[in-house]
Amino acid sequence: MTESTLKSVFTLETESQTYKPIAHNLNASEAVEQFNADPRARITDQPERHRTPDAAKCKICKKAAEVLTSAHAETLSGAEQADAEALSAQESESD
Ligand SMILES: [Zn+2]
Repeated sequence: MTESTLKSVFTLETESQTYKPIAHNLNASEAVEQFNADPRARITDQPERHRTPDAAKCKICKKAAEVLTSAHAETLSGAEQADAEALSAQESESD
């Protein structure tokens, strides 16, 4: 039996709005069991096993966390823009 796809898990830090690696080298069922209930956790596929024991110190995971963070930042700035437009529309209406 071949090894099933490994998973890395990242969590969104609410204060900094950045993703941090919290676990890696998990199999799919471990990842789901431990983190599926966490709305801030992001579970991603790993192409291969990472050698660093600690996910927080893993270079590959840090890189992946940066990618998630920048994607998240883009989503946020898009949302803020929409909010600002909605707000200015509201203001001009009530005025
Ligand atoms: Zn890793």
